[in-house]
Amino acid sequence: MIVISNLHKWFGDFHVLKGINLTVRNGERLVICGPSGSGKSTLIRCINRLETHQKGTIVVDGVELTNDVKRIDRVRQEVGMLFQNFNLFPHMTVLDNLTLSPIWIKKMPLKEARDLAFKYLERVKIPDLAHKYPNQISGGQQQRVAIARCLCMNPKIMLFDEPTSALDPEMIKEVLDVMIDLAESGMTMVCVTHEMGFARTVADRVIFMDVGEIVEENDPESFFNHPQCDRTQLFLSQIL
Ligand code: ATP
Ligand code: MG
Repeated sequence: MIVISNLHKWFGDFHVLKGINLTVRNGERLVICGPSGSGKSTLIRCINRLETHQKGTIVVDGVELTNDVKRIDRVRQEVGMLFQNFNLFPHMTVLDNLTLSPIWIKKMPLKEARDLAFKYLERVKIPDLAHKYPNQISGGQQQRVAIARCLCMNPKIMLFDEPTSALDPEMIKEVLDVMIDLAESGMTMVCVTHEMGFARTVADRVIFMDVGEIVEENDPESFFNHPQCDRTQLFLSQIL
């Protein structure tokens, strides 16, 4: 569970998050949408401390995020993050990308780490790519590797920052299918995405952010069919 209370963040003088209150329950699938620059990436980056906040609290599974490095490590082991640009290590094979953290952070024996890697490569349907390098596979395949790499650390929560927005249209579905499979397995997911089909079918709740605030939140059916706020209506009219 994630509990965010009165979260404020500034980049220098720029007030980017202005009093965010948000609770994500275990097993919940939350979609965050909103215009460019509204603070969506910054908010989810704060959840695993890729960004620091200046005011308010973030508590992840009972651990409050502070400067304490041990706490940050603990939270990062429980929270996987997917980025728009995959962020695989380019000089390592797919298999080595997957086994790196289990071996070095979890101290898992090599054989066990490899078996685990293959288990998740099967799950994302690309076990045959284990010995390729990232630049030898497609964007959709790289993103599925990135998801498998997260799963090898057995996260309780996964954060997605526009995981399909760098992909060609024909590759989007293969990544969304993996995300739908994860959602069905009960994973707690916080997804920044403009894939509204995904939001409609998978999300328990959709929140709309604008200029550093949560302007509206609702279940997908109400959010899309009866948006309350003018800014949400305008945004939806532009993307749907
Ligand atoms: P997009 O949809 O384009 O990804 P976003 O909602 O994810 O946008 P953020 O990336 O969170 O927006 O950025 C929010 C605001 O903070 C933007 O105005 C951005 O320029 C600014 N910002 C983001 N990162 C930094 C940084 N490291 N230093 C200064 N300003 C930043
Ligand atoms: Mg962003």
